[in-house]
Amino acid sequence: MIGANGPSLRAARAVVTGAVFFTRTLRTARAAVEKIPSTSISVLRSVESVRRWRQPHMLNQRSVGLVPTMGALHEGHLALIRAAAKENHHVVVSIYVNPAQFGIKEDLSSYPVTWESDTAALAKLDRELADDGSNFGRISAVFAPTTPEMYPSGFPGQEIDSKGSFVTITPVGEVLEGASRPTFFRGVATVCMKLFNVVQPERVYFGQKDVQQTVVIRRMTGDLMLPTEVIICPTERQADGLALSSRNVYLGPRRRNVGVTLYRALSAAEQTYKAGKLDRASILGAANEVISQTLEAQTKLSAAERALFDVDYISMADPNTMLEIDAVDPAHGAVLSGAIKMHSLTETQRGEDVGHAGGPPVRLIDNIILKPVSS
Ligand code: AMP
Repeated sequence: MIGANGPSLRAARAVVTGAVFFTRTLRTARAAVEKIPSTSISVLRSVESVRRWRQPHMLNQRSVGLVPTMGALHEGHLALIRAAAKENHHVVVSIYVNPAQFGIKEDLSSYPVTWESDTAALAKLDRELADDGSNFGRISAVFAPTTPEMYPSGFPGQEIDSKGSFVTITPVGEVLEGASRPTFFRGVATVCMKLFNVVQPERVYFGQKDVQQTVVIRRMTGDLMLPTEVIICPTERQADGLALSSRNVYLGPRRRNVGVTLYRALSAAEQTYKAGKLDRASILGAANEVISQTLEAQTKLSAAERALFDVDYISMADPNTMLEIDAVDPAHGAVLSGAIKMHSLTETQRGEDVGHAGGPPVRLIDNIILKPVSS
């Protein structure tokens, strides 16, 4: 008996042993999800691993809030995560510097990548969320994919006429930031659509800081009928009003101090609206006055003391379309926004900190919402 069945029995045993080994290996592979040290935050690097993580939460009806970022995390990002933890069982933070939203002449290669401090900030915030009993959820996962993972049929390139699978939201994506950076909103909308499809969040969290981006994302989720709620959180600022931004590291103290001019200009315009003026000339006139006074004062300084900039635009626009308006309808409100380009310093003082990557030109954006006045 044994003689006749021996080899096939051994073969059958081998198959069973192989299957057990395979199952164990699979289990071990599944169990060995990378974590941020000393936390339960999973680090997911592939689309497949996010889908695997997401599925049980879907079946158990656990809600997920997604906070898309490009890393170099600061208090503005952390405020979005706090908001997401208040409303969802799980928070997923994506960290991905998306090349498609950088123009070919922009700062992709020098964009700050700070994985160690980002994960330390997430670990600290997660402990805070755990200690504060009022939160609904915690940071459950970081999605940090590579570009081949995000562009499975190959990265289409950063050129305006690149061919590929894109999401374009027009005309809102063509004005203001879109006029200065023609591929920017195509890159943003495309990567956000991918992230939403992979993570399948109930809610997504964006900062008011990038106001036109919020309008583009709202339009995208509405027009393309995504089952995703878009939540916008206020702009986090430094004490003097400068909006926090990952790109502020490029500035160095001298340019940073002048960079706040944009906020001061928009604030002056807001005050004019609050004082009862509704027309474009009065409101934007107040902003332009602050800018020209600052530029005049800076120009009088020596090259080793001054920080100069160009104004890209100062806008007063409709909050739903971002198209320019001649007067504010008080029942509807408006968006004041602007962009300035800080020049590199032409002369530096001994030991002066000129900023990250040698202090290249830096484009700063900011905005203030003119809220509707209830009658
Ligand atoms: P980024 O990493 O620059 O792509 O930004 C990721 C998210 O953080 C976007 O939704 C931004 O609008 C938001 N964000 C950036 N800076 C701030 C800020 N100062 N306050 C609030 N949200 C911000």
